[in-house]
Amino acid sequence: MILLDGKATSAAIKEEIAQQVDQLKSKGAKVPHLAAILVGSDGASQTYVNAKVKACERVGFESTLIELPADTTEDKLMETIDQLNNDDAIDGFIVQLPLPKHIDEDKVTLRVAPHKDVDGFHPENVGRMALGLPTFLPATPNGVMEMLGRYNIETSGKHCVVIGRSNIVGTPMSILMSRNSNPGNSTVTLTHSRTANLKEVCLSADIIIVALGKPKFLTADMVKEGAVVVDVGIHRIEDSSKKSGFRLVGDVDFETVAPKCAAISPVPGGVGPMTIASLLQNGLKAVLKN
Ligand code: NAP
Repeated sequence: MILLDGKATSAAIKEEIAQQVDQLKSKGAKVPHLAAILVGSDGASQTYVNAKVKACERVGFESTLIELPADTTEDKLMETIDQLNNDDAIDGFIVQLPLPKHIDEDKVTLRVAPHKDVDGFHPENVGRMALGLPTFLPATPNGVMEMLGRYNIETSGKHCVVIGRSNIVGTPMSILMSRNSNPGNSTVTLTHSRTANLKEVCLSADIIIVALGKPKFLTADMVKEGAVVVDVGIHRIEDSSKKSGFRLVGDVDFETVAPKCAAISPVPGGVGPMTIASLLQNGLKAVLKN
């Protein structure tokens, strides 16, 4: 069984990006400057944003974190987005999700200028992705593609089942896996909460990408021998044996599923670190304009 080590793969990608940033610096060219807007003080969001800022610093990007209080109005957030859209020093930015309930996330996604949308969430960029045109690819699904590519996992002609159809993970994942590319060229089944016979569908899969947000949902009886399983889920569950009082698990019951797999990504240390590496790749794209 091959462990798809997202931590090591992400470190290798970051090293490549750092080298490209050094080359830009030595030519006197602009280095990428990314910004993040964080509204409110949700603990998980703060952790994610801090990890992104730290990753920017590690590869030599400039970064700006704009923290707004939880009661920020939608108008004020739009104003802040417009400032970043119009600031030539900023090459790309993200608005950390989820946002407080009184703010419409769809409106926010639409307001970010597509050429600065390093999250790849704007409909223009999603459309370009679907058509196979150059664009910012959404970080988590693209991180999974990088992982499969760097481990030389054969995807062409394989049956790939994606569990979950969210706009940020499952749906773009299904598009990327079905594109005429390498990795890609899979025959994709996109499943969701209304899918009938999910177990049977999964048992016919060569590759299962799990992103439904339910701890340890995918169990060994749903996986055929020799399948490749990628776990996108992240959950904190209580664990009194840990100093912190919790541990991280994914959407896959790793202990029972892993022995059946040809390859599997762990949680933590799988897709999570790949997501950040992928965001940095978009940051570099924003400056290189390719
Ligand atoms: P989401 O927006 O809540 O979407 C969940 C999807 O799963 C929905 O499409 C839902 O179907 C489907 N679903 C729910 N129950 C199901 C069931 N019993 N059988 C089949 N499908 C079911 O979640 P998300 O934002 O995509 O995130 C999914 C997971 O990935 C979460 O654990 C999240 O924390 C994690 N995540 C990790 C990263 C990372 O960097 N590693 C990034 C993003 C998200 P319906 O559409 O029918 O409701």
